[in-house]
Amino acid sequence: MKIATYTFEGRRHAGIVDAGNRTVTPFEDVDTRVDGALAIIRLAGNGDGVPIANGKAIPLDQIKLEAPIPRPARNVFCVGKNYHDHAREFARSGFDSSVSSADAAPVPSDPIFFSKVPESVIATGDIVRIPGDLSVAIDYETELTVVIGKGGRQISAASALDHVWGYTIINDVTARDIQGRHKQWLLGKSLDTFCPMGPWLVSKDELDGTDTRIRCWVNGEPRQDARTTDLIFDIPCLIETLSAGITLYPGDLIATGTAAGVGIGFTPPKYLKSGDVVRMEVDGIGVLENRFV
Ligand code: MG
Repeated sequence: MKIATYTFEGRRHAGIVDAGNRTVTPFEDVDTRVDGALAIIRLAGNGDGVPIANGKAIPLDQIKLEAPIPRPARNVFCVGKNYHDHAREFARSGFDSSVSSADAAPVPSDPIFFSKVPESVIATGDIVRIPGDLSVAIDYETELTVVIGKGGRQISAASALDHVWGYTIINDVTARDIQGRHKQWLLGKSLDTFCPMGPWLVSKDELDGTDTRIRCWVNGEPRQDARTTDLIFDIPCLIETLSAGITLYPGDLIATGTAAGVGIGFTPPKYLKSGDVVRMEVDGIGVLENRFV
């Protein structure tokens, strides 16, 4: 099932998108005006299951999609350098403050976690604002993102997928110069509008997130094309590592890292400029597309 958050007639709703992506049917009996689909994921994660979508189906072209979780309850968990090819291109770029030189072994021994603040989240179709006074090195990162269903602490890798409700796409927008200057990634990745998310959530029974294709285009030019089987640390490992000492809750988000083909991977780097359109697609989910201004 696909659950979208959207605005219709001036009000926020959450609903189920039909198989052909033509209509959305709202959950009438759940108050989704504040949290959108997060209200549904909380019910599902707490054992009540996904309620019946009992409203009237509305054509998708009559609604405005919002980010499926418009305001996460806390920071979005993110993983750095989690594809082999991207770890190498990042080390070569000189922006990787976690290695001493481009010759250093770029593959981390343990997962690297950082986070993005909840207020950076925007929807597909929204504008990403380039802060020209702060950065001249804006980059994109296509990421399969895990949506936690059932929460927990000290979740084993073997049972980790039982805690996954489903998946969405996040563009982990990054100001490379800020990322390098401050030796930590939160600041350069949490700027306002730097977390496009969407287009909706897809449940794990419809999509095997451990083996799907991830692609990205900038102004129609292919940039990223990878499979999640290439992850250095797979989804069960990420959940086990995070939950070892941090309790996970329904609706928590884990962006699993990006593949090779980001702007800094090119010589010279291909940073984003005003007017650029970044289109991301994950097989089984859909398209997340944003213009940068
Ligand atoms: Mg990333």
